[in-house]
Amino acid sequence: MTAARTDDTGDWLVCAGCRTLLYARRFRRHRQVCPDCGHHAPLTAPDRVADLFDEGTARTWEPTATDVDPLGFVDSRPYPQRVVEARARTGLDEGVLCVRGTIAGRSVVAAVMDFRFLGGSLGAAVGERITAAAEAALAQRAPLLLVCASGGARMQEGVVALMQMAKTVAALQALDEAGVLTISLVTDPTYGGVAASFATLADVVIAEPGARLGFAGRRVIEQTIREELPEGFQTAEFLLAHGMLDLIVPRPELRTTIGRLLGAASGGGPRPLRTSPLVTDPTALPERDPWEAVRLARRLGRPTTLDYLTHVVEDFVELHGDRRHGDDPAIVAGLGRLDGRPVAVVGTQKGHDAAALAARGYGMSGPAGYRKAARVMTLAAKLGLPVVTLIDTAGAYPGVAAEEQGQALAIAENIGLMASLPVPVVAVVTGEGGSGGALALAVADRVLACANAVYSVISAEGCASILWKDAAQAPRAAAALQVDARALLRLGIVDGVLPEPGDGADSDHLVAARTLRDAVSAALQGLEGHDGGSLVASRRARFRAYGAETALGAVETGSTAVITDVRESA
Ligand SMILES: [Zn+2]
Repeated sequence: MTAARTDDTGDWLVCAGCRTLLYARRFRRHRQVCPDCGHHAPLTAPDRVADLFDEGTARTWEPTATDVDPLGFVDSRPYPQRVVEARARTGLDEGVLCVRGTIAGRSVVAAVMDFRFLGGSLGAAVGERITAAAEAALAQRAPLLLVCASGGARMQEGVVALMQMAKTVAALQALDEAGVLTISLVTDPTYGGVAASFATLADVVIAEPGARLGFAGRRVIEQTIREELPEGFQTAEFLLAHGMLDLIVPRPELRTTIGRLLGAASGGGPRPLRTSPLVTDPTALPERDPWEAVRLARRLGRPTTLDYLTHVVEDFVELHGDRRHGDDPAIVAGLGRLDGRPVAVVGTQKGHDAAALAARGYGMSGPAGYRKAARVMTLAAKLGLPVVTLIDTAGAYPGVAAEEQGQALAIAENIGLMASLPVPVVAVVTGEGGSGGALALAVADRVLACANAVYSVISAEGCASILWKDAAQAPRAAAALQVDARALLRLGIVDGVLPEPGDGADSDHLVAARTLRDAVSAALQGLEGHDGGSLVASRRARFRAYGAETALGAVETGSTAVITDVRESA
């Protein structure tokens, strides 16, 4: 860690990651990232500002003065003397810079920490500056970026330093209430009181590759519990796998990624007016064998959520993790723009071959996926962004770990959350709409289905096994359950059906994606201008009506048919 630093003045230095001898100027040209091993060496706060902000836009400011030595602290030297030395060594007044400026053309307020200044420790002055930046962001309604690098609270300021955690967190809460985006950029290292306050509480937490983040440091843990810690413990990669980070972004890509996130939090540009391609009359759809529909819906070549995103969602930034246990690859969630309109997108993710399917848990999510979806939908509600969900799942993942982590509760919580989102919500069943695992993403103002999609309370095979004691009776079960798009439209479960190109969406992803874009865009156009309260009221009324006698005689007929059939076969 000590070798590769910006303040090295010699021509050569040694990379702290791979011990390669590097030419100093080349290393600096690479923003202190080793061209051989990718190790990210620390940046000073001024270098970080220069690296992230658009040229010539960054303006620093100094907030109100703070008490420099609340305890009169002395160890081997008086604390004020240490501060004087740190100032002389770094050319900074304190361990953080407050900055206003633009990143990729978008206004942002930032607080940028500098580890060289007493280990980036969080004392009163640092806490004051972080808070001042948050307050400036609130006043300007501009997103807040916090660049973190810290060993933790500053011991020499005792319990006054500890209170800075509460002060900064409260400032972030005010931004939550005001709907202002907060982004934390975790750099190596970020520990203790900074990790346990603003660094991890931001809406979006980005880390540089290899950056370490944690509450207790590795040495403290090893000495306390006397256990060997896993490889890569507390590194960004470890934390991403455990659901604690949204994304890891290499330094050269940070500006673009942060710029996209800032763009998603802004109003967006002009939007083309779309005519809805939806079919809303069930008799306009072909009658067909529901089992045939099930088989079409399961075709491996059908566009996945990521295929749709690639074709029709611009500047998508995928966000990861449930902030509790993990990051479920069966659900993709993030922010982007659809027809110029900032949106949050959440979708289940399958794959086109065996390997891709396995890597994505066959599109069947566990609680971590549903909680990631909830986190992104909550962020959308905070920012006032519409939510678009794409559903293609055989169901929620059936497994021991999923049950241990509360699969049922995660689904229930998502249904509850979606019933209360104060923003427009459009759901599209793009393939299989499998039971509660699908509904957990489908409590929407407009529910749409692709022509070859199905939506069902249980898989046809599952139903056949239970009611006919024979999975081979699946075609019969599919017919009885009325799972195809025509039936769904007739039952009022979906509001419209998206036509598919050729003999199915798998034959032309681009055309399928454009149809989806037009349908969703037109649906969102129709929902614009409604306030949160009226959206929630009509969404709840929609789901209140299912099964109420006046609204849906057809459902009654459907379930009676199943019962009669079973009695006949018994
Ligand atoms: Zn290296």
